[in-house]
Amino acid sequence: MAKNSRLLIHGASGRMGQALVRMRGEFPDLHLLAAVAGRQAPVIEGVEGFTAAELDHVPAFDVCIDFSLPEAFDAVLELCLVRGAALVSGTTGLSAAQGSGLEAAVARIPVLWAANFSLGVAVLGDLVERAARALPAWQRDIVESHHIHKKDAPSGTALALGQAVTRGGGPEPHYASLRAGDIVGEHLVQFTGVGERIELTHRATNRDIFARGALHCASRIVGRPPGRYRVLDLIEQG
Ligand code: NAD
Repeated sequence: MAKNSRLLIHGASGRMGQALVRMRGEFPDLHLLAAVAGRQAPVIEGVEGFTAAELDHVPAFDVCIDFSLPEAFDAVLELCLVRGAALVSGTTGLSAAQGSGLEAAVARIPVLWAANFSLGVAVLGDLVERAARALPAWQRDIVESHHIHKKDAPSGTALALGQAVTRGGGPEPHYASLRAGDIVGEHLVQFTGVGERIELTHRATNRDIFARGALHCASRIVGRPPGRYRVLDLIEQG
């Protein structure tokens, strides 16, 4: 593992960005050097703050953690490519073209994009794929609930769980999205047969799990060869 990696946080003033800034002390091998937000530069003691328009001016860094918005994604990906730095991104709602851009980038830098940085959801994906494979005739429904500020729907996590269902085979899943109150994130994958039903549910009660997962992955991705990494690749090593 690389020591004293220089960290850039992109989207530092948002809900996730603030959690990252608050929890960075748990990862002493990461040194938060600079932080970027949309229109107003973040003010964090001992950390250089920049607006989106000033992105080119950020100092040299080893890894960027990005939790921003789809419209901010292309610029941060380009920055990491130009600087030869690793990218850990949790920004959801990316377009197909942005997904292709991400795929192209993995030939040049280490990249981890994940719709969800919790270990529980990584395991849920595995369970869902196995259930889909074992129950090829059953209907599949994915219901996701989030806070009222979440912009994209279905959530990136719901779509990733849908891909796990598809890998298992059988009918394509249906999606439903609820936006209510301050729900951090809930995902139900339901398999319905005749006269019986299986419900697999994950509930996140605190977004600290996502921030800790992203910081953990950032500390472990530095120094690795270019390529695409998954949360499980980096988290399971303890
Ligand atoms: P938020 O709206 O609270 O914060 C967005 C941040 O992006 C702010 O700091 C804002 O200033 C910044 N921003 C806006 N435009 C920008 C630009 N052009 N350049 C740089 N920064 C810009 O959002 P949030 O709740 O923190 O979520 C951020 C993203 O992370 C969303 O896509 C959300 O779905 C996703 N998310 C992912 C996970 C996960 O585990 N993968 C968990 C929670 C949220």
